[in-house]
Amino acid sequence: LSRNLWQNNYRFYIKEIGEASAKRLKLERSLRKSIEKQELLVYYQPIVDMQTGSITGTEALVRWDHPEFGLLSPDNFIPLAHETGFIIDIGKWVLKQACLQTKLWHRAGYDSMSISVNISAIELDQSQLLNHIENILAETDLFPAALELEITESVLMHDAEASVRILQELKKMGIKIAVDDFGTGYSSLSYLKRFPIDILKIDRSFARDIVIDSDSSTIVTTIIALARSLGLSVLAEGVETKEQFDFLYQGQCDRAQGYLFSRPIGAENLFSLLRQPKTGTLA
Ligand code: C2E
Ligand code: MG
Ligand code: MG
Ligand code: MG
Repeated sequence: LSRNLWQNNYRFYIKEIGEASAKRLKLERSLRKSIEKQELLVYYQPIVDMQTGSITGTEALVRWDHPEFGLLSPDNFIPLAHETGFIIDIGKWVLKQACLQTKLWHRAGYDSMSISVNISAIELDQSQLLNHIENILAETDLFPAALELEITESVLMHDAEASVRILQELKKMGIKIAVDDFGTGYSSLSYLKRFPIDILKIDRSFARDIVIDSDSSTIVTTIIALARSLGLSVLAEGVETKEQFDFLYQGQCDRAQGYLFSRPIGAENLFSLLRQPKTGTLA
């Protein structure tokens, strides 16, 4: 009996592997065409000022509306895009869309809205990055200080010397730099002195456990104090409950982002949210 069970499991396992690699192959083939076929979308997640409760900006988060698999989140295709190098094209496309859209919001009267865009390792490595960004800002006529580039610690540290140079150029252009998923890297904090960083984005794993785990709340309090003393702005990701919000509010975190306010949504829906007197959850 147990032998049968094992054989069945094994067959099932082999079948699953087969299906997974078939899906991967399909994704890989269709990813290259996704931009021209207009299957990529940018979703926007509001970023909220903790003191006023109003939306001060958004983070651009890419989605792929796949003809067969439906709406895919980045985890399903960003790694693949990385391996194939296609992330460069996706990144350029997202940045352009995000800047165009934010300029529309500015024109509609929300003229201080910021836009945060994620930058991956390969994008940061590429010599054309500064040119691309400069061109996109010129084409879309967005003021550079509205743009916040999100880079994770591990990407920054991958080639620290090169990163410092690129970040200094970005800074000269007036662009802001945020460390994404802060607290999950394992590098020495001394890089905070070397890199011209403006914002720390506290990883959402800490916000998640703030109320139930005293280590997490201590870490969050400490990151906020660290940001204060270094003159950096600090933002908490993944805020889902009023309790988490209250803790961060007491702790004087500057900004927050999370399902409590809104999930990432399309541009039209974000615009409706902007026109509401106040984000409902804070009232
Ligand atoms: P990230 O930059 O850390 O983005 C935050 C992620 O947390 C988003 O997932 C967002 O939907 C999710 N999130 C926000 N609030 C909450 C919350 O309250 N609870 C929970 N459970 N999750 C929350 P998403 O959109 O699936 O993106 C995942 C990652 O994919 C991003 O992490 C980023 O690293 C990457 N990514 C997304 N768009 C792009 C892009 O255009 N370019 C690059 N290079 N990477 C991207
Ligand atoms: Mg991010
Ligand atoms: Mg993050
Ligand atoms: Mg992340």
